Amino acid sequence: MSMNLYWLQSGGCGGDTMSLLNAEDPSLPEGMESLGIDVLWHPSLSNSSAAEQTMLLDRLTTGEQELDILCVEGTVIRGPGGSGMYDTFHGRPKKDLISALARKANYVVAVGTCASFGGIGTGAKVEAAGLQFTKWTKGGFLGEQFAARSGVPVVNLAGCPAHCEVILGLLSALVAGRAPELDDYHRPLPWYGVLVHQGCTRNEYHEYRVEEKEFGEKGCLFFYKGCHGPLVYGPCNKLLWNRRSSKTRIGVPCFGCTRPDFPQDYPFFETQSIEGIPRELPNGVKRAHYMAYKGMAAAAAPERLKERKTEI
Ligand code: SF4
Repeated sequence: MSMNLYWLQSGGCGGDTMSLLNAEDPSLPEGMESLGIDVLWHPSLSNSSAAEQTMLLDRLTTGEQELDILCVEGTVIRGPGGSGMYDTFHGRPKKDLISALARKANYVVAVGTCASFGGIGTGAKVEAAGLQFTKWTKGGFLGEQFAARSGVPVVNLAGCPAHCEVILGLLSALVAGRAPELDDYHRPLPWYGVLVHQGCTRNEYHEYRVEEKEFGEKGCLFFYKGCHGPLVYGPCNKLLWNRRSSKTRIGVPCFGCTRPDFPQDYPFFETQSIEGIPRELPNGVKRAHYMAYKGMAAAAAPERLKERKTEI
């Protein structure tokens, strides 16, 4: 089945588009062609005039032309005073365009953490909201009960940015008529059903609590350097970036960019601790058990790990 797609950029950096443009196998044009997706508008791919663009928007918002997939990249800016005039398209608040298009679309996809949960915009004075969540709270701009014409709520492709293969993978599923199962925050489980920790090459160091206090070494970054890998769901160590790497593979902690509260209001490069134990423990783990287990694991750590002799 072929579908059409409209991509609207609102308050964001355009990073999800940059990610999408990095798709290699297939490339973005090949992928869209093989999926039979007709891109009605994408700010980096389309060259229609402002007048043509306005006519297209009119046809879509009046229902004269059907809309299959609406992708929104960036947070919804409602300020000042609920007018949306901080972020406009030819004089029209983008928030009004988003609202009108979302109610006509068969599927609505929030691409990236800003569109999904509000992201960085929620910390600024622009009255920002995600499409159907603001941080952890369901509701967001479109409301708790919103569902697109297909009956599917906003699908959140969280990440700063979302991985190109996740975006194309979701589009492929929608074209096939198989909307994937979502988690509690509307992230599709095929990509957000794993922790970033799963697949990290530093896992063995984590098990034995061989931890780094300085950057540039091979050990785990959970206890001191702020890694969110065991706390956050996302495909970063499953679908590698540029097909070869991830933050933790190059020694940078996972910042938890797929989590609704990203960006968190504490420093990225240090772990928030209570008496030397991370404040947030891996999902489902009891504090007392964790302290006892980590103490024993550290005592049992093999010399090769303490000497950082395992290749990563
Ligand atoms: S560096 Fe982060 S993701 Fe990797 S093993 Fe340690 S806690 Fe897990």
